[in-house]
Amino acid sequence: MKNGIRHPFIVIIALGVPGVGKTTVLKRTVELAKEKNIKIVIKNMGDYMLSEALRHGMVKNRDELRYLKIRQQLELQLYAAKAIIEDASKELGEGDVLIVDTHAVIKTKYGYWTGIPKQLVEVFKPDAFIIVEASIDEIISRQLRDTSRYRVDFAKPEIVKELMDLTRRNAYSAALFTSSLVKIVVNREGEVDRAAREVLSVIEGIR
Ligand code: ATP
Ligand code: AMP
Ligand code: MG
Repeated sequence: MKNGIRHPFIVIIALGVPGVGKTTVLKRTVELAKEKNIKIVIKNMGDYMLSEALRHGMVKNRDELRYLKIRQQLELQLYAAKAIIEDASKELGEGDVLIVDTHAVIKTKYGYWTGIPKQLVEVFKPDAFIIVEASIDEIISRQLRDTSRYRVDFAKPEIVKELMDLTRRNAYSAALFTSSLVKIVVNREGEVDRAAREVLSVIEGIR
């Protein structure tokens, strides 16, 4: 596409409540895509924000990012988006796919904050937002089972419900700026493959 509305490669923004299984489903999507000769590169916003924050000694791990002052998070957020597009532009050509593993809403220490503001989606120019969902009980049990991460500040039914609701709202709002598709993919317990296949079918529907 040469109209400036899109990048040459396809851009998908993956969203969902912490612990719903985004990173897990996306990894499987890459494997399934290889069998179909579709090149997908996943970039995790948290990774980019973390490496920059570590460089400046601002945090010790990724789960401290949401405790930083909002203006610091704002700077890291835009830095990460620009760096992701810069890196992806070097790796990907027409028909290839960038998936950004991120969040539509951040539960900061100070309140809910958008993960996909206008200036960010104008950098990403996403073809689609994919919202990964599961039942509230499934999400909480995944959060508690995965001891590699600190997610106890999310592990309450009313908070998960609110985050799911805000994720949908923010995705539909952001989609207005960039004419993006919004697709909900349910990541059922023990059915990562099924969710990954759905993500792949969205990609096939775009390219
Ligand atoms: P975050 O936003 O905090 O990075 P995430 O959405 O990327 O979270 P993952 O790290 O992918 O979540 O998954 C959280 C936990 O749930 C992991 O232990 C993972 O193995 C497990 N999990 C993911 N999907 C499923 C599934 N369909 N069935 C059972 N367990 C799952
Ligand atoms: P994750 O591994 O996806 O949970 O990301 C780690 C952390 O990075 C999150 O808890 C947030 O603090 C931060 N983060 C990720 N995506 C965004 C975003 N779009 N906007 C602001 N912060 C983000
Ligand atoms: Mg993740």
